[in-house]
Order: sequence, then structure tokens, then C-alpha cells
Amino acid sequence: MYDGDIASVLITEQQIKDKVAELAKQVDEDYQRGGDLLLVGVLKGAVMFMTDFARALPQPAQLEFMAVSSYGSSTSSSGVVRILKDLDRDIAGKNVLIVEDIIDSGLTLSWLLKNLRSRNPASLEVCTLLRKPDAVQVDVPVRYVGFDIPNEFVVGYGLDYAERYRDLPYIGTLDPKVYTSGV
Ligand code: 5GP
Ligand code: MG
Ligand code: MG
Repeated sequence: MYDGDIASVLITEQQIKDKVAELAKQVDEDYQRGGDLLLVGVLKGAVMFMTDFARALPQPAQLEFMAVSSYGSSTSSSGVVRILKDLDRDIAGKNVLIVEDIIDSGLTLSWLLKNLRSRNPASLEVCTLLRKPDAVQVDVPVRYVGFDIPNEFVVGYGLDYAERYRDLPYIGTLDPKVYTSGV
């Protein structure tokens, strides 16, 4: 699949699987105090992580999705966010866990946290599979982090380049020829 496009595999399918199980166990332990856990997945990037995470989670959770678009280039975000698809339900009084694919500048997440907090959930936390170095500098509280990765553009397991590579079961870096061939 995508022969020759992937320069290197950064995180294997097995490593993702192990980490998802570990995160799910940790979340389960932290949310024993009762009340419905509501997972908010951010489309489309978080969809693979969200569905695997929900299945690995030992306790019941409800699934909601939001789609946002941040103005900016395809590889960096500006922090100006537009809601493309909002939640279907009210989250007031719920324990909400945002499930994210990757945090880079943290601008998208920072906006999302503010937006969701204004809807008065009982609690609001973030679980991200990947985090890049810049995100550490931004003051965004992220309770659960799968992997801290280098500052490289990655694809796979939900993450795309021009809507491609989301269906890869692992996370890898792209061969520079992909950026330059204009596909
Ligand atoms: P932030 O607002 O944190 O800078 O941007 C987060 C969003 O940018 C992610 O949800 C994702 O859509 C995109 N993004 C950031 N880094 C990468 C990357 O390495 N690969 C891909 N495919 N998308 C990324
Ligand atoms: Mg995302
Ligand atoms: Mg994208």
C-alpha cells in the first residue's frame, strides 16, 4: 500500500495497539467515580484512535464527533477555528474526554477546550495519541499522551496528507518526493 511513499515507520501497528490499551486502562482507573464518560473525537484524524480506544476501554462510554477546520496551510494551523460539524448532544454535566490524533501548535485544541468548557461539562480532559515538541510549550492541559514525537510531518492511523494515508495501520513519515510531485 502506498509503495515507496513512506520514508520510515515511526510507530508500528503493535506499538499503537499496546499504547491504546495502556491509555484505556489509565483512563478507566481515573474514571471510576461514576457518571457517563463521553468521548469527543475530532474528525477526521482521530477516528482510528477513537474507535480503537473506545473498544479497549473497559467501561462504557458514549461517542460523539466534532469536525473543525482551522484556517491556515495544510501543514500548519492558525488557531482560527470553524466548526464544520458540531456535537449532536448537550454535554452539560457529563465527563467529557476529548480524543485527539495529534497536538502540534496546540492552537486547535486550545480553541476547542474553551468552546467545550463554555457548555459546562462536569469535567473536561484531553487524550491525544501524538504530541509534537511545540505543544509542550503551549499552556494546554493534556492529561493523556500516547507518544511524544519529533517535529516531523507524519501520516497514517487517521492522519492524512491531502486526504491520503489515513488508512495506514501504522504511523510513518512521508518521502519528500510526495510533497514535490504535486499528487
Ligand atoms: P495544531 O492546532 O495543534 O497545530 O494542529 C493540530 C492539527 O494539525 C491536527 O489535528 C492535524 O490535523 C494537523 N497536524 C499537525 N501535525 C500534523 C502531522 O504531523 N501530520 C498530519 N497529517 N497532520 C498534522
Ligand atoms: Mg486532530
Ligand atoms: Mg489533515
